[in-house]
Amino acid sequence: LSERLSGVFDRLTKQGALSEEDVKTALREVRVALLEADVSLPVARDFVKRVQEAATGQAVTKSVTPGQQVVKIVHDALVDTLTGDADPGALKIDSPPAPILMVGLQGSGKTTTTAKLAKRLKDREGKRVLMASLDTNRPAAMEQLAILGTQIGVDTLPIVKGEDPVTIARRAKTQASLGGYDVYMLDTAGRLHIDQELIAQAAAVRDVANPRETLLVVDGLTGQDAVNVATEFDDKIGVTGVVLTRMDGDGRGGAALSMRAVTGKPIRFVGLGEKMDAIETFEPERIAGRILGMGDIVALVEKAQQTIEAEQAEKMMRRMAKGQFSMNDLKMQLEQMLKMGGMEGMMSMMPGMGKMAKQVEEAGFDDKIITRQIALIQSMTKKERANPKILQASRKKRIAAGAGQEVSDLNKLLKMHRQMGDMMKKMGKSKGGMMKQAMKA
Ligand code: GDP
Ligand code: MG
Repeated sequence: LSERLSGVFDRLTKQGALSEEDVKTALREVRVALLEADVSLPVARDFVKRVQEAATGQAVTKSVTPGQQVVKIVHDALVDTLTGDADPGALKIDSPPAPILMVGLQGSGKTTTTAKLAKRLKDREGKRVLMASLDTNRPAAMEQLAILGTQIGVDTLPIVKGEDPVTIARRAKTQASLGGYDVYMLDTAGRLHIDQELIAQAAAVRDVANPRETLLVVDGLTGQDAVNVATEFDDKIGVTGVVLTRMDGDGRGGAALSMRAVTGKPIRFVGLGEKMDAIETFEPERIAGRILGMGDIVALVEKAQQTIEAEQAEKMMRRMAKGQFSMNDLKMQLEQMLKMGGMEGMMSMMPGMGKMAKQVEEAGFDDKIITRQIALIQSMTKKERANPKILQASRKKRIAAGAGQEVSDLNKLLKMHRQMGDMMKKMGKSKGGMMKQAMKA
């Protein structure tokens, strides 16, 4: 696939901004890649459409092809979609004993994941965990959990023959309270397919336990079915997160994207084998790379972007040392500042700038002001940016109006630009100039 892609990309024309045609061509291949990764068709279609709109018109980084640029944009959008708002590994287990309900289809890895998570809670957070098997369908299932419990040193609820899942859940709750456990985990039975009985049983257990977390365990090799499974469980039971198992295999993990896109539920953990330590918290970057299967292209574009940033910074330094400090340079500085957490952070990295950083800080700089200043520069023409001396009253009026600000705001910006230019000229002239030192550093 990668070869096929680079072929397509080579054919794309090289130019400054992504044309609709560039984006379309590249996204056709991206769509195939998503489907091959088992992303469900409607999700893949939707995703591609969203990226199409966002990508058209974006600038292409020097030394990469438009197609490569699109892949990077797709990658970033994937990461964005896959990223939840909270720390995926942080299970809600306040107010002990906190119940955790494990649901999912048969063979998805519920029992294994229950034990893995129990071990994790014990080892990493020093929690006392009680595990209970509610799988009354398969006689061996309860034994399986008990054996894992012994293996990892986590208690399991004693098995009582003939009990139904709700009764077991009640007993687990009581036992967890009396035994002073921090967490109790309920490992439910699964079916090969979703049916009403399975759902009804899980719902009854949920009503008894009132779980703090309900984790849906899904086989990472599952393709199109993942969306149905996740939707059904979430609608009927209500899940707080998804565990994607068997990601040690060949599966590209498209199920993660489908489920996240359709249910909005975060992926919390990833199962990476049969061993009890083979579980990790979900990392969007890693799964995104896997789903897309174009890691080298993404890395290439990132590298090109970094190189260009470094080149630009160096060029700017050289110009500044010569006393040429344009509005574009200032704009670049301001943008860098936004990225690097304010003026102070940036200036403190340049030798000899400490004092100025203080002044700027005292002047009450914050992100909002910086953004407004950038807007002013953006409203200048190329000529004006190169030579702000040509700015007389009418030009000033136009620029300020264009940025939705007052001429006085613009005057402040111009003054700052002048002062910075003067200071840099002085530094450049001083013997063994500070700017030269800065450039070497
Ligand atoms: P359950 O029916 O949902 O309880 O599924 P089990 O926990 O019994 O797991 C079914 C099989 O899948 C077992 O043989 C597990 O060892 C295996 N399994 C579970 N999680 C993983 C995983 O992340 N990777 C691999 N390779 N196998 C797993
Ligand atoms: Mg099981």
